[in-house]
Amino acid sequence: MKAHSSEVGVFVRIRPTANFAQRLIECLPDGQTVNIYQKRDVRKLAVKNQLSSWSFRLDGVLHDISQEEVYARVGRRVVLGALEGYNGTVMCFGQTGSGKTYTMTGSTESYKQRGIIPRALQEVFQEVEKRSEHAFSVHLSYLEIYNETLVDLLSSVRGAPDLPPRGMVVMEEPGGGVFIRGLSLHPVHSEEEALNLLFEGEMNRIIGAHALNKNSSRSHCIFTVHIESRSRTLSDAKYITSKLNLVDLAGSERLGKTGSEGQVLKEAMYINKSLSFLEQAILALADRRRDHVPFRQTKLTHSLKDSLGGNCNTVLVANIYGEAAQIEETLSTLRFASRMKCVRTDPAVNEHTDPAVQIKKLQKEVQMLKEELSIYNTLADRPRTMYEPLSEAQVAEIHSQVQRYLEGSLKEISIISIRQLQEVFAQFKSAVQEQEQKVKAELCQTYDLVEKDQNANSAAIKEWDSKGSVGEVEDGGFGAGAAAPSQRHAGPGKTKTKKPRETITVSQGKKPGAGSPVPGKPVESASKSKLNCVQTPEKEQEAQEPDTQSQDTQESQPPSKEPTSTDSPPPKAEAFEDFKAGQGSAINRILKENKAVLLERRARLRRLTEEVNAAKREIDRSTASIQQYKDVRASQGQFVSMEGEPVLDEPEVTLVLHLRQLKARYRQRYEELRSTKAELNYCQHLVDQCRVRLLTEFENWYKESFLLPEEVLAMLRTGGPMQSGIITMDKTLTQEEDDQELFERLQYELLVDSPSAVSFYNARHKILKRVGINRALSLTPVQRSSSRGSGRKKLPPILPIT
Ligand code: ADP
Ligand code: MG
Repeated sequence: MKAHSSEVGVFVRIRPTANFAQRLIECLPDGQTVNIYQKRDVRKLAVKNQLSSWSFRLDGVLHDISQEEVYARVGRRVVLGALEGYNGTVMCFGQTGSGKTYTMTGSTESYKQRGIIPRALQEVFQEVEKRSEHAFSVHLSYLEIYNETLVDLLSSVRGAPDLPPRGMVVMEEPGGGVFIRGLSLHPVHSEEEALNLLFEGEMNRIIGAHALNKNSSRSHCIFTVHIESRSRTLSDAKYITSKLNLVDLAGSERLGKTGSEGQVLKEAMYINKSLSFLEQAILALADRRRDHVPFRQTKLTHSLKDSLGGNCNTVLVANIYGEAAQIEETLSTLRFASRMKCVRTDPAVNEHTDPAVQIKKLQKEVQMLKEELSIYNTLADRPRTMYEPLSEAQVAEIHSQVQRYLEGSLKEISIISIRQLQEVFAQFKSAVQEQEQKVKAELCQTYDLVEKDQNANSAAIKEWDSKGSVGEVEDGGFGAGAAAPSQRHAGPGKTKTKKPRETITVSQGKKPGAGSPVPGKPVESASKSKLNCVQTPEKEQEAQEPDTQSQDTQESQPPSKEPTSTDSPPPKAEAFEDFKAGQGSAINRILKENKAVLLERRARLRRLTEEVNAAKREIDRSTASIQQYKDVRASQGQFVSMEGEPVLDEPEVTLVLHLRQLKARYRQRYEELRSTKAELNYCQHLVDQCRVRLLTEFENWYKESFLLPEEVLAMLRTGGPMQSGIITMDKTLTQEEDDQELFERLQYELLVDSPSAVSFYNARHKILKRVGINRALSLTPVQRSSSRGSGRKKLPPILPIT
């Protein structure tokens, strides 16, 4: 007989009855098919008592068959499989009273009528006796699941461990197996011992049912035989284990039929729930495309996770009651059975390796291999193989060999063992590391560098700040300050260099009292510097802005003298002029161009404002005149046309037409004015940005030209040519693109907005604040004209029309 099968075995057992419904239940002579006929009341067709039929073909129909034969056909195969290492499950399913317990446990009084469990126990111990080449150990457990509560039916047995405080829990093992934590496992050595435990469990089942007033048919019982076997002949680390689950399920009858209430209803709900989840799990197991089976939904399926389908032998006995009154339940039981039939299994032996035995085995193997190798070495006249770690002397010898090899005095290192080879590599590695350190130290010494260190940095920053001949400058914002410090200008005529800031720190300069630039110093700290001894160019320019011509002349003046690092630093005002003419000429030119555009826009805005206001005044006048005509007509009486329209005098008509033209002109000028205003703000921003950049770059240039020691400058130059002019231009362009986008957005808003200038500027102010545009743009024009008005002519307020 095959110890395992590739499909679930499904049998029907019919409980014998004097009132067997012969007309409704037909067992075919093949012994595998059962047909069910059911009278159906099909009202729709107005045909009463129509007969429906179902045919179920299973593995066997057990009708009028003895307990012994049932075991032989149902149980034996699974039991023998378990002895060979396959997990197995025999399950009885059916309505209460259909003979599940009779099939599984049988009569405890009559030996002849004993069921599958006692017969399985008998067979197990008979086989253990027979299979003397294996050492078996058998343990038993008996679990009851009642209303989703796990009960140990063998907890009363002497030696059973106390129940853990958190009760019993279904646990999953890494290999996919499950076990019930807290469920007692009892070793048994004979059939009798095993039967004692079974009966003890049965007794507890009855007592529990009585004491708790529960119906035992409403609980699931799982009697498990745990088998472990090791070969006595082979000193193998491998051993096999298996579980044989003998399951007596709760009655499958449906809820509605019994008209249950209260406790009974609750029990029935639990049973129905767990059985329907069992059915779901079975459907999932039957569906090959599904890779997830919902085992964990109830305690029943979770406990049986490693014993249903999969790699187990599974057999189902569908117990049916052969009476006509039970035909519906019979039908439902058979449907469940036919679903179970679809589950495919792939039984596999549960093989394990005992780590302790495995270690012993491997140790023995290693010893044998060493001996064998030693024989080979002797035969080949090779030195003895070393297995022990190298001694200190040996390591020192290898070290010296490697050193001599590196120097060239040793031509080659002969390899004698794996350990020696590994040590040679290790020595090479440490030689390389040593060399690296040496080179680093030498470089630092030569170039007066120290390794980047956070503390050194912060100390240097402090020193730099305290010594600094520079203070704070208003933040240029809008990225102007951020871009500039990453570029450093050498003095006029010097190569522009870019300093590799991230990797080195420059030590204190040799020039006494001179500050040092500090890498990693936050960009803002450089951009936030202020000229101490010069009138801030911003102020200077602001004052001069309306007079472009005079400022341009001043700005284009050539430097009075070439600054050199050996002289004492020149006054900043002078140096600033030199810078604008030389190094900073590109940015200065852009600044001037932007300012020219700005002034032109400002003039245009002024003109437009005057025009708008003039139009407004004329509108007011015309409106007043028209009103006068209206008042006269009201007092003298109104002429009305045939259509009921008021008839107007000619001068009044002329006035009305003129007013329309005026309003159109007002609107057109007003639109122009708004776009000019947006342009003006944009230009203002550009001018501010250029100015901040000019200042920042001047600061850096000044520092590098007059305040840094020569050797630092020399090192900075090694960073490669700095193309600050180009970078600045690019950055400006990028910024312009961003601004253009913002500008266009604002223009669009202008068109859809009401003509109210106040609401427009308020809204724009909010947007600018949100997008973080610099202060030049975020000020409202009204605020700007009042706050900065000293050097600029105030624009007249715009008069709105209604
Ligand atoms: P279930 O466990 O399904 O509720 P039981 O096994 O308790 O049903 O069976 C109900 C009754 O029917 C019991 O008294 C049992 O002895 C009897 N019975 C069931 N099946 C058979 C059978 N095949 N032969 C003789 N008696 C049976
Ligand atoms: Mg029962």
